[in-house]
Order: sequence, then structure tokens, then C-alpha cells
Amino acid sequence: MVNSSMHILVSNDDGIFAEGLWALARQLGRCGRVAIVAPDREQSATGTMVTLRTPLRVTRHHCFSADIPTFTVEGSPSDSVILALGKLVEDVSLVVSGINQGLNLGDDVLISGTVGAALQGYLRGLSAIAVSVPPESGPEVFELAAAFAAEVAGSINTGKLGSNIFLNINLPNRPLETIAGVRVTDLAHKTHIDSVREGNDGRRQYYWLVREQLSRDVAPSTDIWAVENGFISITPLHHCLFRRPDGQIDEAQCGRFFDSLKNARP
Ligand code: MN
Repeated sequence: MVNSSMHILVSNDDGIFAEGLWALARQLGRCGRVAIVAPDREQSATGTMVTLRTPLRVTRHHCFSADIPTFTVEGSPSDSVILALGKLVEDVSLVVSGINQGLNLGDDVLISGTVGAALQGYLRGLSAIAVSVPPESGPEVFELAAAFAAEVAGSINTGKLGSNIFLNINLPNRPLETIAGVRVTDLAHKTHIDSVREGNDGRRQYYWLVREQLSRDVAPSTDIWAVENGFISITPLHHCLFRRPDGQIDEAQCGRFFDSLKNARP
């Protein structure tokens, strides 16, 4: 059944030396050919950032793995995937990003470089998976998350999950025996706000942007609820940001803006 020629691109935002990247690449080797194209250093919280005003440098590495073609990019996670799909790796059908050391739940997906990397695969018509675990997770949880991602990738490979799907997967920091199950979830909404903290280092003022939790009072349908209650969360993502919400602004209103401009002319 398995299409052994499936070519899987693995990337991340924690950089080439991250434990989760290599756990993922090793496990995905069970599903097909794997190539790694990842940032040469940590690029967490870079979201969908792409580099358009400076050239990008790529290095091929032979020291990490004999079996897995491995490249680093002096750029963002999105840069890495765009370069991989456009130039470095042929015939990719699945992009898997992670395993991030830190959950990517709710509003976090908008700033997550892990999700941003997967997004570039999805936008190009491929299937894409982002995988994240809590920051304090040890090697067992990375291995478990990687094995779970490989199961999902295997299903994508056999066509069971359709094409061009985009899944955001988060696991709790628990051994397999105590995981409650798997939930298909919605993103929790309005759970964080970015605030500013100020200080002085003796020479200059400095500022820290800090993610502050607004509410953990979330519905059981959400990703945050699932992980907090010991479930693996799978959130199907899509391009709904680009779909027009109903009833917020209509053409009659916009016509009035235009009429006001015309009436204001001397
Ligand atoms: Mn990260």
C-alpha cells in the first residue's frame, strides 16, 4: 500500500541542532524518503516571515546523516521550505515541521515558525503537518510525537486523509500509557495578548514583548482543552483568514465612503 517513493520534507523553527527535528526525520523514514531543510539557528516565533531584501545562503551537510540529505538555510523557517520546494528537494508531497519544543495552541499558530514552515507546503498544494510538544518534554515525548506524526504521515501517504490537508498536532508531556486519546479540535481563540515590559540595563532602556495568558477557560472542543486534559490534539487548519466573514461590512457602506470623498472635493 505504502508509496515508498513519497518524499517528505522536514523543517522546523528550533534550528538544525534541535532534538525534535531529528526524532521526526528518523521516524518519518518509515514512510518514505526524507530530506531536511531547516534554519541554521533557532528561529522560533518568526511566524510566516520571508526574506526578500537580502540573499539567502544554503549549506549542504554530510556530517549529520548518511541517509538524509540535509541542508541549512541562513533564514527563516518559511525561507527554508520555500527554498527546499523551489530548488533543493524534488517531488515533495508532504511537509512536516517540528517537533517544536513548546506547544503551538490557539492564537500561537499566528506567530509560530513551526506552523509557518508547514504553511508554505500547504500553500503550494501539498499536505503539511506541524508537530509540537511542551517545552519541558524529554526524549521519550519527542520519540512518541515523532512516531505519532509518522502514523499520520503514513495515512496521508495511502490517501486516507485526502490531499492538501494542513494539520497542527500538539502532544501533552505524558508517557503513552497515560495519554487519554486523540481529539480533533478547533483553535482556541483570544487566549493571549502580547504586552510590553520595560527595564533599564544601566545604559539604556530596554523592552521585552511578553505573551500573557488571557484565559484558560476554554471549550472542550479546543486544542488547549485537549492537551491540558491529556489528549493529543489534531487541529485541521485552512485558509479561512482569506475567506470573507458574513455581515461585517457591505458595499452600501463602502459606497458612502466613496460618496463622502466626492462630496468633500472643493
Ligand atoms: Mn520553536
